[in-house]
Amino acid sequence: MGSGSGNLRMATPLGRIFLLMDNKNIIEQFNNFISSAPDYILAGLSDADTITARNAKCQSCEHLDLAAQRCKLCGCYVWAKMRAAAAKCPDNRWPGAT
Ligand code: SF4
Repeated sequence: MGSGSGNLRMATPLGRIFLLMDNKNIIEQFNNFISSAPDYILAGLSDADTITARNAKCQSCEHLDLAAQRCKLCGCYVWAKMRAAAAKCPDNRWPGAT
């Protein structure tokens, strides 16, 4: 994976979390994770209706890597992203997006 896609994944806090899995600078990635995690923890989890609506949008989106179930715009695993209440679609496709 090129450095360009790595920069895209830095665009969202949840994307930063998943950088921990496959990039080389573990200390920087850990710092990114720690700086973004409180927002997600404080907001809690999405309710079932929100998860269903978000999943419907992601599964029909051309930006989804179907095999990996990962958004190609932000790098997030959508199964996790859609469950975090504070998460946002990088292309404003989720219901309720402003
Ligand atoms: S988060 Fe948004 S852009 Fe990414 S796959 Fe889902 S609907 Fe598409």
